[in-house]
Amino acid sequence: MVNNHTKILILGSTGSIGKSACNCVRRFKYRFSVAGLTAGSNVDLLTGQIREFSPASIYITGSQNADLIKDRFKNLSVYSGDGGLEQIVNEADYDILLNALVGAVGFRPTVAALKRGKRVALANKESLVIGGDYIRAIIGQDNERRLLPVDSEHSAILQCLPSSPGHHNTIESIILTASGGPFRSLPKDKFASITPEQALNHPTWSMGKKITIDSSTLMNKGFEVIEAHHLFATPYDKLRVCVHPQSIVHSMVEFHDGAVLAQLGLPDMELPIQYALSWPNRLPIPGKRLNLPDIKSLDFSDPDMDRFPCMRLCIDAGKTGGTAPAAVNAANEVAVDLFLNKRIGYTGISEIVESALNEHTPLKADSVEVIEDADRETRKKILNKYRS
Ligand code: NDP
Ligand code: MG
Repeated sequence: MVNNHTKILILGSTGSIGKSACNCVRRFKYRFSVAGLTAGSNVDLLTGQIREFSPASIYITGSQNADLIKDRFKNLSVYSGDGGLEQIVNEADYDILLNALVGAVGFRPTVAALKRGKRVALANKESLVIGGDYIRAIIGQDNERRLLPVDSEHSAILQCLPSSPGHHNTIESIILTASGGPFRSLPKDKFASITPEQALNHPTWSMGKKITIDSSTLMNKGFEVIEAHHLFATPYDKLRVCVHPQSIVHSMVEFHDGAVLAQLGLPDMELPIQYALSWPNRLPIPGKRLNLPDIKSLDFSDPDMDRFPCMRLCIDAGKTGGTAPAAVNAANEVAVDLFLNKRIGYTGISEIVESALNEHTPLKADSVEVIEDADRETRKKILNKYRS
């Protein structure tokens, strides 16, 4: 960072998190600037973002779209195709990478930025799910926080942790809250007939499609337990999940004297995104404030692992370690896609994940190649079964 001005490379700028990140930059033009932007296919939104933020580098997946951007903007470094995301991360001039890609495609860019010594604001939780041990090994004993969480629960935890070193000895547990999703109270016999439209209707958060489905199955909470394990170097037996339908308490840290600290706020991703970009400082956000009397009551309960097997499967894979979480993530990505395309029913998601985990032989996840092989093999096996 130079003179307190932060140059940000935003991966996935056309998505839900990416667009909110652009709002943060818009709000603090003197403090943040955009070094680069990346999109999958949304060339129109990317064009508008380039006009507004004047980045030096961009990536877009398809070569036709890349040519279109080259025609529209001269003096812009345009990347596309396989390896292009890693390339922009390796070559662009930035202080912090905001990784808001969805899925395993975000793993290599996270690794590349960390290897380059950059700070990463991580929304792409799949990076840590599939390669958490490997990523921790890259960061090593670096005292400066190189990986900053964007996920609201992990941001809440970061905000509750004491800044003094040696705090780990004082933490008894970390409690992640979960809204419980749209099917929190649905009887088990109704799960098989859940439609994509119903699953995409999240009660408290507005997000991209994939994480909305993951939130409805509680796979997302399983991912977040693994994410917390790696981000805060906390063993699984100290990580707990608590269902809290109002999504006001974003997570909690319990200390060994019995004190529990929580971070509260309205469900809006702009705070955790902005905090990751400005950490360790806080910058103002105008707008609606939390007024607890309006909320009236806050409810908490234990998650039901029987109706939501994805969460249990995911945490089991995390405890097994090695390439097991990469297999679960790959199986889940394929299964969610099949469900959204109405090729399988809702309960098919957990069935596919469970059989992928049973068939997978975990290896030590000590290289990008081993992790990506596990990902590729798992996808291949499932897709072979569902070839139309
Ligand atoms: P979205 O689906 O809204 O956005 C994903 C972004 O990634 C888009 O810019 C999309 O481009 C781009 N993208 C998708 N696939 C590829 C690909 N193969 N190659 C290059 N770019 C690609 O996702 P969200 O913003 O909801 O989520 C992003 C990440 O943040 C996920 O890991 C999610 O779990 C995490 N997260 C999200 C939260 C939320 O509130 N949304 C909360 C906490 C975590 P395009 O649209 O142009 O095709
Ligand atoms: Mg979350």
